Amino acid sequence: MRFSPHLAWRNEPLRDRLSERITVPVLVDNDANAAAWAEFRFGAGQGSRVMVCLTLGTGIGGALVINGRMFRGRYGMAGEFGHMTVVPDGHWCPCGNRGCWEQYASGNSLVRDARALLAEGAPGAQDLLGYVADRNPGNLIGPDVTRAAVDGDRLAIELIADIGIWLGRGMANLAAALDPDLFVIGGGVSAAGDLLLEPARTVYARTLTGRGFRPMADIQKAHFGNDAGLIGAADLARHSINEPPGMARGFWPRRRTAVRKPRRTLRQSLSETLAGPVVRDK
Ligand SMILES: [Zn+2]
Repeated sequence: MRFSPHLAWRNEPLRDRLSERITVPVLVDNDANAAAWAEFRFGAGQGSRVMVCLTLGTGIGGALVINGRMFRGRYGMAGEFGHMTVVPDGHWCPCGNRGCWEQYASGNSLVRDARALLAEGAPGAQDLLGYVADRNPGNLIGPDVTRAAVDGDRLAIELIADIGIWLGRGMANLAAALDPDLFVIGGGVSAAGDLLLEPARTVYARTLTGRGFRPMADIQKAHFGNDAGLIGAADLARHSINEPPGMARGFWPRRRTAVRKPRRTLRQSLSETLAGPVVRDK
C-alpha cells in the first residue's frame, strides 16, 4: 500500500505482513473499489457502462467501473475524488491539503458541523441533542443525525441536505470529467436516503455542464449499504483466481517490478553486428 490519508500507512507492506499471520493467499485492495465492485456485479450498478461509486463515511471513497472493469489508473491510485480541492484554503484534510471535497460531503464533515452547531446552541440544537448520548455535543455520532433526520428533526434535515448539496456539486464536476451514466452513493451517510440524495440530485442538475443537452446520469443509493465492501472484496478475490494481479490482462494494475533495459546505442548494435553472432552468458 502506497498511501492512506486516514491511516498512518505510507509504503506499508500490508499484504506481506498479513501473509506472515494467515495461511491463505492475500489480496489487498481499496475499500471503495471493493464496494463499487459489489454494486456493479450484484447491486445498484448492474448494467452500467460508466459507473462512479462514492462512499460517504470517514472521508469520501471513490471508484470507477468502466465497461465492466475496475478502472484503477496507471499506478492503482485512481478514484481519490474526495481529495479534489473544492474550497481553496478551506478545512484542513488529513491528506495534507486544504479544502478537499471530503471535508464538506462526508460523515466526518457532518459530525464536525453538527457538533459545532450543538456547542453553539444554534436554533434547533436542543431537539437534536435529544438524540445524543448524555446530551453532550462531543458525543454526537453520524447515525444520531441520520436518525433524527428520518424522525423529521429540522436541524438534522438541514445538516444532511447540506452534505447533499456539496455532493451534487462534486458529482457535477466528476460528470464534466467522466460522463458517467450512474452514480452509486454508499457509506454510512447514505442511510439518510432521499434526505441526502434529493438535494444532491437538484444541485447536480443545476450545476451540470451541458445541462439540458445531455442525458442525466442516474443517482442511486448503494444496494448493499455497509456490506458492499465485504461482498466486493470476496468477488474480487474470486476474480483473482482466474486472473492473478501479476498477469496484467487489464483487470488489475500492472506490477511495476520489471527493470527496463538500457537502450543499446547505434554504435553498440553496429559493432555487435560487425563482430558476428555473439554467444551470450546465460
Ligand atoms: Zn484531502
